[in-house]
Amino acid sequence: MPATYTKVEKITDAAAIKQAYKPTHPGQFEVVYAEGDYNSKLVTCKSYAKGEIIAKVEGITPGPKRYTSVQIGKEDHIELNSDLVFMNHSCNPSVSLDTDTMTVVAVHNLKEGDNMTFFYPSSEWEMDQPFPCWCGAELCVKSIQGAKFLSKETMSRYFVTKHIQDLLNERDASEA
Ligand SMILES: [Zn+2]
Repeated sequence: MPATYTKVEKITDAAAIKQAYKPTHPGQFEVVYAEGDYNSKLVTCKSYAKGEIIAKVEGITPGPKRYTSVQIGKEDHIELNSDLVFMNHSCNPSVSLDTDTMTVVAVHNLKEGDNMTFFYPSSEWEMDQPFPCWCGAELCVKSIQGAKFLSKETMSRYFVTKHIQDLLNERDASEA
């Protein structure tokens, strides 16, 4: 898997990109390109049972915090260098990105064509590019800035990585 994977964000000709596209995980999941900014998504190519490992996270490289990076420790960030970078955020996520075991796991039963989303604050403490959330989930947290800005109660609804749990514990101990 090349470390030079580029996430194309501003898409003006989805048909051309689709034609040139080679999935990094053929048969497992693929990018659905849509024109506009940040409109593309990652969908499953087959069904997965709740709790099933959809992919091992391989071919990562360390790097600075940026909009495509994933936090894997208190100070450490990586680039996914694969189609997994197209997983969008949802407050009702379909997968967990477990940076402790470096796996992507199905949160519930998934069928072919389902949108693969994860809860970004489960790995991100303070995001490089915060954004308002319009995911439509009943318990949408509305503003995605990172776990630092969410209560422990809210975070308890989600899969949370060890470094985020540690940072939440430290934050709440210092506030008490
Ligand atoms: Zn939301």
